[in-house]
Amino acid sequence: MDQTIKFTIDGTIVTTQKGLTIVEAAKDNGIYIPTLCNFEGAKPKGCCRMCTIKINSRYMTACTTPAADGMEIESNTEEITDIRKSIIELLFVSGNHFCPACEKSGNCELQALAYKYQMLVPRFPFIFPQKGIDASSPRLMKEQNRCIACKRCIKTIKDEEGRNYFAYKNRGYALEVILDPELGKDIPEDLAKLAMENCPVGSIIYKEKGFDEPIGSRKFDKTPIGSEIEV
Ligand code: SF4
Repeated sequence: MDQTIKFTIDGTIVTTQKGLTIVEAAKDNGIYIPTLCNFEGAKPKGCCRMCTIKINSRYMTACTTPAADGMEIESNTEEITDIRKSIIELLFVSGNHFCPACEKSGNCELQALAYKYQMLVPRFPFIFPQKGIDASSPRLMKEQNRCIACKRCIKTIKDEEGRNYFAYKNRGYALEVILDPELGKDIPEDLAKLAMENCPVGSIIYKEKGFDEPIGSRKFDKTPIGSEIEV
C-alpha cells in the first residue's frame, strides 16, 4: 500500500512516507527546523520547544508530531522565528554561558542557534544563578552553568544493563542534570567521549583532552547551523 503523504511547510509542498515526524520529513525535503533536545535515535519529548511550529494555526512541536496528509505548517514566519529567538534568549539568561571561555565554542548548538537567530541583547534579565562544577569523575567534568536540561545525556548514555549515567536531581527551578556519583567513577572512555559529543552545549567535558579541532575552525565556525539540510 502506498504510504506517501503530502503536506505544506510555509507553502512548500513536502512529500514523505507515513511514520516520520515533521522534523524528519522536513529534513528529508531540505527544510531545516531547529531542535535542541531532539536527538536522532532517542525518543523525542518536545521539552525545549525550539521546534515550535504552527499546524493549521495551532502551536505544536515538530519533533514529536507525526507528519500527516494535508497539514498546513508555518515554520519560518516572523512570529515563529520570534518564539524560537525568545527560547534561545531564555536559555542564555537562565544559565551562565560564557561562550568565549567554553571548550565547546564553535561546536555548541545553542551558540550556533544564537548566531542563526541573530540574538543580541536578550529581552529578559540575566539571572546569574549560582551553579557549580562536578569534577569528581576521573573522566568527566559536569559544568552545571551551561546545562540546558535537554536530557540528551540521560536518554543516550547508559551501561550494558541499561542503567543511566546521568539523571535529574531536584525539581522546578532547582532542577539539575547530574552525573551519577557512583557510576560516574567508572564511566568507560568511549561512553565519556560520547557523552561529551551528544551534549549540545559545553556541560559535559571529557578530562585530559577535549576536542581535536581548535576553536575558530569548528563545525559552526565555518557554516551556520542547519545549512547541511537547507537546499
Ligand atoms: S548535560 Fe548536556 S546533554 Fe545533558 S541535559 Fe545538560 S545540556 Fe543536555
